[in-house]
Amino acid sequence: MNIAMIGAGYVGTATSVAFAEYGHKVYVIERDWEKLKKLKMSVLPFFEEGMEELFKKHSANGNLLFFHYIEEVIDQCEILMITVGTPSLPNGEADLSYVEEAARQIGRSMNEYKAIVIKSTVPVGTGDKINKIIKTELKKRNKEISFDLISNPEFLREGKALQDALHPERIVIGCETEKARQVMKELYSGINSPILFTTVKDAEMIKYASNAFLATKISFINELARLCDKVGANVIQVAKGMGLDSRIGPQFLQAGIGFGGSCFPKDVKALLALASAEKTPLQILQAVLDVNETQAQWFMEKVKKALGSLSRKRIAVLGLTFKPQTDDIREASSLKIIHYLLQNNACITAYDPQGTEHVKKIYPTINYAKTTLEALNGADAALIVTEWKEIIEIDWKKAKSILSQPFVFDGRNCLDASVMLELGYHYEGVGTPNLD
Ligand code: NAD
Repeated sequence: MNIAMIGAGYVGTATSVAFAEYGHKVYVIERDWEKLKKLKMSVLPFFEEGMEELFKKHSANGNLLFFHYIEEVIDQCEILMITVGTPSLPNGEADLSYVEEAARQIGRSMNEYKAIVIKSTVPVGTGDKINKIIKTELKKRNKEISFDLISNPEFLREGKALQDALHPERIVIGCETEKARQVMKELYSGINSPILFTTVKDAEMIKYASNAFLATKISFINELARLCDKVGANVIQVAKGMGLDSRIGPQFLQAGIGFGGSCFPKDVKALLALASAEKTPLQILQAVLDVNETQAQWFMEKVKKALGSLSRKRIAVLGLTFKPQTDDIREASSLKIIHYLLQNNACITAYDPQGTEHVKKIYPTINYAKTTLEALNGADAALIVTEWKEIIEIDWKKAKSILSQPFVFDGRNCLDASVMLELGYHYEGVGTPNLD
């Protein structure tokens, strides 16, 4: 099939590569000239393990083509997929302006039936809004053209985007006509994953509900970690014991310094904003957000207490991205931690294998190291913020000889506390008993 993918971010690019791999031809539309230039030169505009190879392959064989205007390709494509961003507005609502603009562009340029698929994460009711916008644009042109508005939310995870796009655990399709159902069935016919057909509204809600639930698991264990810390229980063991119950499951129960990224914080806020607008407050979800917003600060207060004061202390911040295997720093806990350290007059040397350039734009004056050991050299304490493999695998014996004080604060509980103790460190994790 011929697909127009509107918006070449993480989702648009990963989805395009996957559809190309399944034999479709994808016309990728990107309005950012810089990004488009890179795409046309077969350069991925972001880091994602394993994606580059397939991306280059399909750029070369013509299954992936890149354009700036939807008008250039719309007549060739039966499916128009919207994958533009839906960031948070200051009041927490989802900013739908990019989705609405894409809809106007479609309405202004379509000349025959189209299956219009919203893949961006949008609040319940957006499908109806977009339907109206397209109809209004068609009316302005005195055109009566039929189309289907379909919701097909995306569940891929950054860091595993390619694998998730190629082999999704489930495909959710919200549509209202048999024709739309058939088009979507054909689109996904090469992918061996369960498909759930729902209404557009149900599909829109499934996406938010899924992210909100995962965020709830994280904040639940993070809040519990604070209590574990007080009473001397070990949250790692607690989570393990809980996770063995198949009704609970082990995933998303790793205590840490909070969730970040481009999805969880904004989607939780958007769902809360929708609930508030509908005068149906979601109390549990509000608590999920509150715990997340204070988790990094709670951890930093522990660090401050252990070090006595942070003033003029040299702190190695290990990891900047919101999770490993990505260069994404959106809403990353590292940003809150750097802010806290600066407010407390600490001297920071940060290290990250992929996210440094992005953080430099926000904090240009702190020091950035090229290696973990360079960051640790002479530091009064090491603070693990992102559990990159190379950070976990630091030679901690050697590191002890170059640190000026043997303090390690593990915001992701990714090191073995007993090993660190044996090496002579003062080691503190999140919700784990202090062994020394
Ligand atoms: P992004 O901000 O990385 O990318 C969006 C892209 O769309 C940008 O490159 C932007 O320039 C482009 N764009 C905006 N308007 C355009 C237009 N009219 N025409 C052409 N291009 C346009 O966003 P993302 O992270 O890929 O997320 C996209 C959507 O998918 C969001 O709603 C997000 O919540 C959702 N989502 C994201 C993830 C994720 O892991 N990033 C996972 C699942 C769902």
